[in-house]
Amino acid sequence: MKINCDVIRDLLPLYVDGVSSEESKKLVEEHIEDCRDCRDVLSKLKNTEYDTDISEEKESVLEYSFRKTKRKTFIAGGIISSILMIPVIACLIINLATGHALDWFFIVLASLMLTASLIVVPLMVPQKKLLYTSLCSMASLFMLFAVCCLYTHGRWFFIASTSVLMGFTAVILPILIGRYAKDGFIKKNKGLTVYALETILLLSLFFYIGAYIGGREFIVKAVMISSVPALAMWALFAAVRYMHTNLVSKTGAIIAISGFSILVINPWVNNIISKDKYLLFSADNIINTVISIVLAAAGLILLFIGILYAVIVRIKKVKHGIQND
Ligand SMILES: [Zn+2]
Repeated sequence: MKINCDVIRDLLPLYVDGVSSEESKKLVEEHIEDCRDCRDVLSKLKNTEYDTDISEEKESVLEYSFRKTKRKTFIAGGIISSILMIPVIACLIINLATGHALDWFFIVLASLMLTASLIVVPLMVPQKKLLYTSLCSMASLFMLFAVCCLYTHGRWFFIASTSVLMGFTAVILPILIGRYAKDGFIKKNKGLTVYALETILLLSLFFYIGAYIGGREFIVKAVMISSVPALAMWALFAAVRYMHTNLVSKTGAIIAISGFSILVINPWVNNIISKDKYLLFSADNIINTVISIVLAAAGLILLFIGILYAVIVRIKKVKHGIQND
Protein backbone atom coordinates (compact mmCIF):
# COMPACT_ATOMS: atom_id res chain seq x y z
CA MET A 1 0.00 0.00 0.00
CA LYS A 2 2.81 2.44 0.98
CA ILE A 3 4.78 1.98 -2.24
CA ASN A 4 1.60 2.20 -4.16
CA CYS A 5 0.86 5.67 -2.62
CA ASP A 6 4.25 7.01 -3.75
CA VAL A 7 3.70 5.74 -7.26
CA ILE A 8 0.21 7.26 -7.33
CA ARG A 9 1.53 10.63 -6.17
CA ASP A 10 4.08 10.62 -8.99
CA LEU A 11 1.22 10.01 -11.38
CA LEU A 12 -1.17 12.62 -9.90
CA PRO A 13 0.23 15.74 -11.73
CA LEU A 14 -0.08 13.90 -15.06
CA TYR A 15 -3.57 12.79 -14.07
CA VAL A 16 -4.61 16.38 -13.19
CA ASP A 17 -3.23 17.71 -16.48
CA GLY A 18 -5.12 14.94 -18.30
CA VAL A 19 -2.02 13.61 -20.05
CA SER A 20 -1.70 10.25 -18.25
CA SER A 21 -2.24 6.94 -20.10
CA GLU A 22 -5.58 5.12 -19.78
CA GLU A 23 -3.91 2.51 -17.59
CA SER A 24 -2.41 5.05 -15.14
CA LYS A 25 -5.71 6.90 -15.04
CA LYS A 26 -7.53 3.74 -14.03
CA LEU A 27 -4.85 2.98 -11.42
CA VAL A 28 -5.16 6.45 -9.89
CA GLU A 29 -8.95 6.38 -9.78
CA GLU A 30 -9.03 2.93 -8.19
CA HIS A 31 -6.47 3.95 -5.64
CA ILE A 32 -8.04 7.24 -4.52
CA GLU A 33 -11.35 5.51 -3.92
CA ASP A 34 -9.78 3.73 -0.97
CA CYS A 35 -6.96 6.10 0.02
CA ARG A 36 -8.01 9.26 1.74
CA ASP A 37 -4.47 10.81 1.85
CA CYS A 38 -4.00 10.60 -1.88
CA ARG A 39 -7.51 11.98 -2.41
CA ASP A 40 -6.52 15.05 -0.35
CA VAL A 41 -3.31 15.51 -2.34
CA LEU A 42 -5.33 15.28 -5.55
CA SER A 43 -7.86 17.92 -4.45
CA LYS A 44 -5.05 20.27 -3.36
CA LEU A 45 -3.33 19.82 -6.71
CA LYS A 46 -6.57 20.56 -8.53
CA ASN A 47 -7.10 23.72 -6.47
CA THR A 48 -3.62 25.12 -7.11
CA GLU A 49 -3.98 24.36 -10.81
CA TYR A 50 -7.25 26.22 -10.75
CA ASP A 51 -5.69 29.20 -8.92
CA THR A 52 -2.79 29.50 -11.37
CA ASP A 53 -5.23 29.21 -14.27
CA ILE A 54 -7.34 32.04 -12.83
CA SER A 55 -4.40 34.33 -12.06
CA GLU A 56 -2.91 33.72 -15.50
CA GLU A 57 -6.22 34.49 -17.12
CA LYS A 58 -6.64 37.64 -14.98
CA GLU A 59 -3.19 38.87 -15.96
CA SER A 60 -3.79 38.31 -19.65
CA VAL A 61 -7.18 40.08 -19.46
CA LEU A 62 -5.61 43.03 -17.61
CA GLU A 63 -2.75 43.24 -20.06
CA TYR A 64 -5.15 43.11 -22.96
CA SER A 65 -7.35 45.90 -21.56
CA PHE A 66 -4.25 47.96 -20.67
CA ARG A 67 -2.92 47.64 -24.21
CA LYS A 68 -6.36 48.44 -25.61
CA THR A 69 -6.72 51.61 -23.45
CA LYS A 70 -3.18 52.64 -24.32
CA ARG A 71 -3.89 52.26 -28.03
CA LYS A 72 -7.14 54.22 -27.69
CA THR A 73 -5.52 57.13 -25.82
CA PHE A 74 -2.69 57.13 -28.35
CA ILE A 75 -5.20 57.37 -31.21
CA ALA A 76 -7.09 60.13 -29.34
CA GLY A 77 -3.79 62.02 -28.93
CA GLY A 78 -3.10 61.66 -32.64
CA ILE A 79 -6.57 62.94 -33.59
CA ILE A 80 -6.33 65.95 -31.25
CA SER A 81 -2.89 66.88 -32.57
CA SER A 82 -4.13 66.71 -36.18
CA ILE A 83 -7.10 68.93 -35.23
CA LEU A 84 -4.67 71.38 -33.62
CA MET A 85 -2.66 71.45 -36.87
CA ILE A 86 -5.66 72.94 -38.77
CA PRO A 87 -5.49 76.44 -37.19
CA VAL A 88 -1.68 76.32 -37.44
CA ILE A 89 -1.80 75.77 -41.20
CA ALA A 90 -4.67 78.27 -41.64
CA CYS A 91 -2.79 80.96 -39.70
CA LEU A 92 0.43 80.22 -41.59
CA ILE A 93 -1.35 80.80 -44.91
CA ILE A 94 -3.19 83.93 -43.72
CA ASN A 95 -0.05 85.41 -42.16
CA LEU A 96 1.96 84.77 -45.31
CA ALA A 97 -0.80 86.17 -47.53
CA THR A 98 -1.41 89.35 -45.52
CA GLY A 99 2.01 90.22 -44.13
CA HIS A 100 5.48 90.27 -45.56
CA ALA A 101 6.98 88.09 -42.85
CA LEU A 102 5.71 85.58 -40.33
CA ASP A 103 5.08 87.37 -37.04
CA TRP A 104 1.83 86.77 -35.16
CA PHE A 105 1.76 83.25 -36.61
CA PHE A 106 4.38 82.27 -34.03
CA ILE A 107 2.09 83.46 -31.22
CA VAL A 108 -0.67 81.16 -32.51
CA LEU A 109 1.84 78.33 -32.90
CA ALA A 110 3.20 78.73 -29.37
CA SER A 111 -0.31 78.92 -27.86
CA LEU A 112 -1.36 75.75 -29.66
CA MET A 113 1.87 74.06 -28.55
CA LEU A 114 0.94 74.91 -24.99
CA THR A 115 -2.52 73.39 -25.54
CA ALA A 116 -0.95 70.30 -27.10
CA SER A 117 1.50 69.91 -24.20
CA LEU A 118 -1.37 69.91 -21.74
CA ILE A 119 -3.70 67.60 -23.71
CA VAL A 120 -1.72 65.52 -26.21
CA VAL A 121 1.46 64.81 -24.22
CA PRO A 122 -0.28 63.05 -21.30
CA LEU A 123 -2.27 60.97 -23.81
CA MET A 124 0.65 59.90 -25.98
CA VAL A 125 3.63 59.56 -23.61
CA PRO A 126 3.82 55.99 -22.28
CA GLN A 127 5.63 56.67 -18.97
CA LYS A 128 6.50 59.54 -16.61
CA LYS A 129 3.45 61.47 -17.86
CA LEU A 130 3.61 64.20 -15.20
CA LEU A 131 7.30 64.87 -15.85
CA TYR A 132 6.98 65.18 -19.64
CA THR A 133 3.68 67.09 -19.48
CA SER A 134 5.03 69.69 -17.05
CA LEU A 135 8.36 70.07 -18.88
CA CYS A 136 6.68 70.42 -22.31
CA SER A 137 4.06 72.90 -21.06
CA MET A 138 6.73 74.98 -19.30
CA ALA A 139 8.84 75.04 -22.47
CA SER A 140 5.87 76.07 -24.65
CA LEU A 141 4.78 78.70 -22.11
CA PHE A 142 8.29 80.20 -22.21
CA MET A 143 8.16 80.10 -25.99
CA LEU A 144 4.82 81.93 -25.91
CA PHE A 145 6.31 84.60 -23.63
CA ALA A 146 9.32 84.92 -25.93
CA VAL A 147 7.31 85.35 -29.16
CA CYS A 148 4.86 87.77 -27.48
CA CYS A 149 7.84 89.78 -26.23
CA LEU A 150 9.41 89.82 -29.69
CA TYR A 151 6.10 90.79 -31.33
CA THR A 152 5.33 93.61 -28.88
CA HIS A 153 9.00 94.63 -28.37
CA GLY A 154 8.48 93.95 -24.67
CA ARG A 155 11.31 93.41 -22.19
CA TRP A 156 9.32 91.48 -19.60
CA PHE A 157 10.28 87.94 -20.68
CA PHE A 158 12.49 87.15 -17.67
CA ILE A 159 10.03 88.65 -15.18
CA ALA A 160 7.14 86.53 -16.51
CA SER A 161 9.12 83.30 -16.82
CA THR A 162 10.78 83.65 -13.40
CA SER A 163 7.35 84.13 -11.81
CA VAL A 164 6.06 81.02 -13.58
CA LEU A 165 9.16 79.10 -12.50
CA MET A 166 8.52 80.13 -8.89
CA GLY A 167 5.00 78.71 -9.05
CA PHE A 168 6.29 75.55 -10.72
CA THR A 169 9.01 75.12 -8.08
CA ALA A 170 6.53 75.50 -5.24
CA VAL A 171 3.74 73.28 -6.60
CA ILE A 172 5.00 70.75 -9.17
CA LEU A 173 8.67 70.29 -8.29
CA PRO A 174 8.06 68.60 -4.89
CA ILE A 175 5.79 66.04 -6.61
CA LEU A 176 8.36 65.46 -9.38
CA ILE A 177 11.19 64.98 -6.83
CA GLY A 178 9.02 62.59 -4.80
CA ARG A 179 8.16 60.50 -7.85
CA TYR A 180 11.23 60.50 -10.05
CA ALA A 181 14.33 61.58 -8.09
CA LYS A 182 16.83 58.88 -7.16
CA ASP A 183 17.42 58.27 -3.45
CA GLY A 184 19.98 60.80 -2.32
CA PHE A 185 20.45 64.27 -0.93
CA ILE A 186 17.74 65.97 -3.01
CA LYS A 187 15.08 63.35 -2.29
CA LYS A 188 15.92 63.36 1.43
CA ASN A 189 15.91 67.19 1.58
CA LYS A 190 12.99 67.97 -0.73
CA GLY A 191 11.88 71.00 1.32
CA LEU A 192 15.41 72.40 1.50
CA THR A 193 15.85 72.07 -2.27
CA VAL A 194 12.55 73.83 -2.99
CA TYR A 195 13.27 76.59 -0.45
CA ALA A 196 16.78 77.21 -1.80
CA LEU A 197 15.50 77.37 -5.39
CA GLU A 198 12.67 79.72 -4.41
CA THR A 199 15.13 82.03 -2.65
CA ILE A 200 17.41 82.14 -5.72
CA LEU A 201 14.40 82.73 -8.02
CA LEU A 202 13.08 85.53 -5.78
CA LEU A 203 16.45 87.29 -5.83
CA SER A 204 16.69 86.95 -9.61
CA LEU A 205 13.11 88.26 -9.95
CA PHE A 206 14.16 91.41 -8.05
CA PHE A 207 17.13 91.74 -10.37
CA TYR A 208 14.96 91.42 -13.53
CA ILE A 209 12.33 93.86 -12.23
CA GLY A 210 15.11 96.28 -11.30
CA ALA A 211 16.58 95.96 -14.79
CA TYR A 212 13.11 96.43 -16.32
CA ILE A 213 12.30 99.65 -14.47
CA GLY A 214 15.91 100.79 -14.68
CA GLY A 215 16.43 101.30 -10.98
CA ARG A 216 19.36 99.98 -9.01
CA GLU A 217 17.68 101.54 -5.97
CA PHE A 218 14.72 99.20 -6.42
CA ILE A 219 16.94 96.08 -6.32
CA VAL A 220 18.69 97.21 -3.14
CA LYS A 221 15.41 98.11 -1.42
CA ALA A 222 13.64 94.92 -2.52
CA VAL A 223 16.49 92.70 -1.34
CA MET A 224 16.69 94.57 1.98
CA ILE A 225 12.93 94.49 2.58
CA SER A 226 12.56 90.80 1.80
CA SER A 227 15.72 89.69 3.58
CA VAL A 228 14.20 89.73 7.08
CA PRO A 229 10.92 87.95 6.15
CA ALA A 230 12.97 85.46 4.12
CA LEU A 231 15.28 84.83 7.07
CA ALA A 232 12.23 84.35 9.30
CA MET A 233 10.80 81.81 6.83
CA TRP A 234 14.14 79.98 6.69
CA ALA A 235 14.31 79.87 10.48
CA LEU A 236 10.73 78.54 10.69
CA PHE A 237 11.48 75.94 8.04
CA ALA A 238 14.66 74.84 9.79
CA ALA A 239 12.79 74.52 13.12
CA VAL A 240 9.92 72.52 11.62
CA ARG A 241 12.05 70.24 9.45
CA TYR A 242 15.37 69.79 11.25
CA MET A 243 14.73 70.20 15.02
CA HIS A 244 14.77 66.62 16.25
CA THR A 245 13.80 67.30 19.85
CA ASN A 246 10.49 66.94 21.67
CA LEU A 247 7.28 68.59 20.52
CA VAL A 248 7.29 71.21 23.33
CA SER A 249 10.67 72.70 22.42
CA LYS A 250 9.81 72.59 18.72
CA THR A 251 6.53 74.45 19.32
CA GLY A 252 8.39 76.92 21.56
CA ALA A 253 10.98 77.59 18.84
CA ILE A 254 8.29 78.16 16.20
CA ILE A 255 6.32 80.58 18.42
CA ALA A 256 9.50 82.44 19.43
CA ILE A 257 10.60 82.82 15.79
CA SER A 258 7.13 84.08 14.82
CA GLY A 259 7.13 86.60 17.71
CA PHE A 260 10.61 87.92 16.87
CA SER A 261 9.70 88.12 13.17
CA ILE A 262 6.59 90.23 13.82
CA LEU A 263 8.60 92.42 16.18
CA VAL A 264 11.38 93.03 13.66
CA ILE A 265 9.66 92.95 10.24
CA ASN A 266 7.33 95.93 10.73
CA PRO A 267 9.95 98.51 11.78
CA TRP A 268 12.47 97.05 9.31
CA VAL A 269 10.17 97.37 6.27
CA ASN A 270 8.70 100.66 7.44
CA ASN A 271 12.07 102.31 7.99
CA ILE A 272 13.19 101.31 4.48
CA ILE A 273 10.13 102.44 2.52
CA SER A 274 8.91 105.48 4.44
CA LYS A 275 10.56 108.59 5.74
CA ASP A 276 8.65 108.47 9.04
CA LYS A 277 10.60 106.41 11.51
CA TYR A 278 8.77 103.44 12.98
CA LEU A 279 9.02 103.61 16.75
CA LEU A 280 8.37 100.33 18.57
CA PHE A 281 6.67 101.94 21.56
CA SER A 282 4.83 104.82 19.91
CA ALA A 283 1.06 105.04 20.41
CA ASP A 284 0.42 103.58 16.92
CA ASN A 285 2.54 100.50 17.34
CA ILE A 286 2.41 99.69 21.03
CA ILE A 287 -0.18 96.85 20.69
CA ASN A 288 1.74 95.18 17.90
CA THR A 289 4.99 95.47 19.84
CA VAL A 290 3.52 94.09 23.08
CA ILE A 291 1.84 91.13 21.32
CA SER A 292 5.02 90.17 19.50
CA ILE A 293 7.16 90.48 22.64
CA VAL A 294 4.69 88.32 24.61
CA LEU A 295 4.68 85.75 21.78
CA ALA A 296 8.47 85.67 21.62
CA ALA A 297 8.76 85.37 25.41
CA ALA A 298 6.15 82.60 25.60
CA GLY A 299 7.96 80.75 22.81
CA LEU A 300 11.32 81.07 24.57
CA ILE A 301 9.81 79.77 27.85
CA LEU A 302 8.31 76.77 26.04
CA LEU A 303 11.61 76.15 24.27
CA PHE A 304 13.43 76.28 27.62
CA ILE A 305 10.93 73.87 29.27
CA GLY A 306 11.22 71.47 26.33
CA ILE A 307 15.03 71.47 26.41
CA LEU A 308 15.03 71.09 30.23
CA TYR A 309 12.69 68.10 29.95
CA ALA A 310 14.90 66.51 27.29
CA VAL A 311 18.00 67.01 29.46
CA ILE A 312 16.29 65.49 32.53
CA VAL A 313 15.16 62.48 30.51
CA ARG A 314 18.72 62.05 29.16
CA ILE A 315 20.25 62.24 32.68
CA LYS A 316 17.73 59.70 34.03
CA LYS A 317 18.56 57.34 31.20
CA VAL A 318 22.31 57.65 31.84
CA LYS A 319 21.79 57.01 35.59
CA HIS A 320 19.59 54.02 34.82
CA GLY A 321 22.30 52.69 32.51
CA ILE A 322 24.97 53.05 35.24
CA GLN A 323 22.71 51.31 37.82
CA ASN A 324 22.10 48.44 35.44
CA ASP A 325 25.84 48.01 34.89
ZN1 LIG B 1 -2.56 6.45 -1.43
